[in-house]
Amino acid sequence: LIDKQSKYTVVANWKMHGSFDMCDSFANKLSTVCNSDSFTKIETVIAPPFLYLDSIGKKLAHLSIKFAGQDCHFAKSGAYTSDISADMLAELGCKYVILGHCERRKHYGETNKTICKKAESAILAGLVPIICIGEKCIKRAFEELKEQCKSCIPKNAEKIIIAYEPVYAIGTGIVPSQGEIKKAAEFIKSNVNQNAQVIYGGSVNEGNCKQIAQINGIQGLLVGSASIKPQSFSKIVTEVIESLG
Ligand code: PEP
Repeated sequence: LIDKQSKYTVVANWKMHGSFDMCDSFANKLSTVCNSDSFTKIETVIAPPFLYLDSIGKKLAHLSIKFAGQDCHFAKSGAYTSDISADMLAELGCKYVILGHCERRKHYGETNKTICKKAESAILAGLVPIICIGEKCIKRAFEELKEQCKSCIPKNAEKIIIAYEPVYAIGTGIVPSQGEIKKAAEFIKSNVNQNAQVIYGGSVNEGNCKQIAQINGIQGLLVGSASIKPQSFSKIVTEVIESLG
């Protein structure tokens, strides 16, 4: 049922959660619940806070797991206290960077234009941007999505992931219907380069991941709250692999 043309990608966004202990338990759980073969069947990406990237990366170095930053600056370097550049993430071994998460848009006033600049800088650094878009207002969903597709997705990017994350679905337990997600994925694809991989995020958990994984046009999941529980995230990974058949 899953589109096998492109790899299925499951991303764990820890947000501002974690500790070195959590890196240990997460790595232990993933290594025992999933065998190393699992991570060749789907692309599993972990995005912890910057501070833990190195620690968890080393603990999971024996598995084909990939890592992502949760944000980056658009400049290569400069007087931007506390920021991290795409080059720095790439140097650390990250393959991806999450950009334009609705929490960044809400708390830091990130605009589509800034997100596009960040994505361009990520691509130049050799990273694959995972750009989050999603409507705040259900009634104006397609209008909002259209504007985001136009303004925050770089044109002609060779590889790009677009995470469709309706804002009302994040951390709320509310998940749109399968039909609504499919329609949104089709709409996004028709408004960007057709090679873009569309994934879904918003209240994904071990109970609903299999159903969401089977939606045509959705080629991955972005998992927030459920990804900080090692048991839940491992279960999501194994459930998705099972869906692949
Ligand atoms: C997110 O933060 O990107 C997210 C999808 O969160 P949650 O899974 O908790 O809704």
